[in-house]
Amino acid sequence: MFLTLIRRGCALAVACFAGATTGWSSVVASNDPLHPGTNEPVRLSARATGDIKKISLHYERYTLSKDASGRQTQHLAEREITVQTCEAANGVSLLECEYEVTGGFPASSLVKYKAVAHFKDGSQSLDTYSFAAGAFPWPDRPIPIRVTGDIRSRLDIIFIPTKDLTLGQFKNGLSSVIYQLYFANPWYGNNRVMFNFWYSGEFGDYQQLCKFLDPGNIASLSAIGDAIAFLHKKNMRDCRSGKRFSSEIDYGRTLLHESGHALFGLMDEYCCDSRYEQQPEFPNLWSSLAACEADAPNVLYPKRLCTQLANKEGRTIDFWRIDPVTPAPGSIMGPAQHDDPSSTHLNANARRILWTFDKCLSGDCMGNGFSIRSSQRLDQLVEQLGARIKDATKSVGPILVADADLIMAIQVRIVGDTAKVERTEIVRAPLPKSAGKAELLVKAMSATDSTLHQYVIDDPRLAEVEGQGYIRLPDVKVWVFAPASTSLKSLDLMPVDDKRLFKGEALKALRVDLQPGISKLCEGTASIAACFQAERR
Ligand SMILES: [Zn+2]
Repeated sequence: MFLTLIRRGCALAVACFAGATTGWSSVVASNDPLHPGTNEPVRLSARATGDIKKISLHYERYTLSKDASGRQTQHLAEREITVQTCEAANGVSLLECEYEVTGGFPASSLVKYKAVAHFKDGSQSLDTYSFAAGAFPWPDRPIPIRVTGDIRSRLDIIFIPTKDLTLGQFKNGLSSVIYQLYFANPWYGNNRVMFNFWYSGEFGDYQQLCKFLDPGNIASLSAIGDAIAFLHKKNMRDCRSGKRFSSEIDYGRTLLHESGHALFGLMDEYCCDSRYEQQPEFPNLWSSLAACEADAPNVLYPKRLCTQLANKEGRTIDFWRIDPVTPAPGSIMGPAQHDDPSSTHLNANARRILWTFDKCLSGDCMGNGFSIRSSQRLDQLVEQLGARIKDATKSVGPILVADADLIMAIQVRIVGDTAKVERTEIVRAPLPKSAGKAELLVKAMSATDSTLHQYVIDDPRLAEVEGQGYIRLPDVKVWVFAPASTSLKSLDLMPVDDKRLFKGEALKALRVDLQPGISKLCEGTASIAACFQAERR
């Protein structure tokens, strides 16, 4: 579908995707503060451009609570009301409208806010989202600040405060992160409906270099977040590890570049020491000149723009980009990120972004088979893991299939070239199958060395330092999964493709013995089979 759009010349500098499908919105709604406290006054604002006649502001309020079975629910507390109407009878090109809710909202509120712009030609456009107001009842969950829809059909960005900021500085800064950094870029600003924004009330920390200290609620953040941003104030060298990345709270180009990796699976277009591969679908990087040239017409560029990655010293690697570095604006995934304030996502990036949006609209936001059904299973898994395993980290992201009813969740600690099992748990949920970015192959092995199950996760040992390439983390923990079968004996953790590793440093394959952990888990039962059977009941 989006290829048609591109061929109509739509996908160049400005994203016209939203205009073509879900309704172009030239009215932007916002609220201040983003998460008002209990009964704290809130200003609801909207700003519309075009041949505009009128803006109306509306909200509806829900109360968040738990039902008898402990499930989180919401029920309608105030039916939708119109709180403000701002008119310009003869039409103007810019109209702003605001309303102050002087008494604020009670604790545990979820406010669905809507701004509608009425144009002179009779057409309308609207901007609508939900935000938490008053004390949030589940402080360890991601707190919604601009949620436009179901997480399965949206790209979810979660902000985490680091100790470099006070909670006040962090919360005050988020408004400009969303409205001035993200939305200033047309891929975000013109497609606001594709994104949900949340924050964590619990602090994490980021230290140079690539040291992410997760907040205690990371499991529930990872369950919802597609990109998890650790925000800080100091000028530091930033890093990405899986879906986590660090960024200054007031620097848009790092935010956008890292979000490009995390949300859209875009590859770096600079040379030479990042991790490179040609994505299987809709690449922005090609492993041969011929492949780049063959694809060039699909991204509306001449073949001559296919350029081998090279650094300033003339070192090259065998990958080709097509998105230009110059003239400005250059591609934000390449060297222009550092040199060109106007850098943005160009055509090859754009095609992948549109492809992601397209999948989102069909409820398959993060791709690779991440369907609504599998994501519901993922929620169950995370809930169960959350109950039993407090410090579950990033590996709860894989995709699930329904070929096992009982699985082992194994926390493996990798220090240098050794791996050992830290914890072994049983989870009643289907098995993970594959994750978004193939880096580390996890194989569950039997005593006779046959593969019982395998899937791929981000390699937790690798973290990307922006502009510097990948570095190896010396000590990491990762949760991996295997079927709870009596023949399960060990896990193999294998780098998927040595050739893709940076700086020539090969990561070794690791084997961990699961027997001691399983024996301990099943202590006091007659056999492993009986132990698993007991769990099944
Ligand atoms: Zn990068």
